[in-house]
Amino acid sequence: MENIKVISFDADGTLVDLKFVDLVWNFGVPKLFAEKEGIDFEKAKKYTKKEYDKVGENSIKWYDISYWFDYFDLGESYTDLIKSLSMEVEIYEEVSLVLEELSDEYELVISSNAQREFLDVEIESIKEHFSHIFSSTTDFRLVKKTPDFYEKVCRVLDVSPDEMVHVGDHWNFDVICPKKLGVTAIYLDRNGKNVPDNGHNLVVNNLEEMLKLL
Ligand SMILES: [Mg+2]
Repeated sequence: MENIKVISFDADGTLVDLKFVDLVWNFGVPKLFAEKEGIDFEKAKKYTKKEYDKVGENSIKWYDISYWFDYFDLGESYTDLIKSLSMEVEIYEEVSLVLEELSDEYELVISSNAQREFLDVEIESIKEHFSHIFSSTTDFRLVKKTPDFYEKVCRVLDVSPDEMVHVGDHWNFDVICPKKLGVTAIYLDRNGKNVPDNGHNLVVNNLEEMLKLL
């Protein structure tokens, strides 16, 4: 790939194992709700999940932990909850090596849907590699599925879309949307079983494989 200047990474499921985010939403939040309501954890988990699903990932509310703390009336301690689970953050094993290799040649950024409150904790140990960390929901009040988001990122970085590669694990948010703008998108399929059957040939099973494509 020629004239690429910037490589943009999704965070959850791409750099950071989903376990942490999953724990916050499907363990931490329902546990607090169960304690508040005096009901058992499984019942609380089912209820909170049902409420998340009603809103869905296309809505900005879905990502907003302060919204859910208000909605479930859990008080103001969501930062405490995130911090209390921070030891569970796991960066995928190949990430450090890949970032080191790529940072010699490219500017590296993160383009994530996750809120700043999550990102700060999640990428603490690798943040030195990135010139910018964009949270679509916190910085632009946008869900990443909009090509608008990638346009804003390019503008801030002062590059054109064809000078950027984005890699991520969500077919719509990380592939379809950036491609609409003209960003080269690499689909990360860590399980190796979700490869879309539509001729998109930039698919990798881990980030190391990406080095061969660049
Ligand atoms: Mg992701």
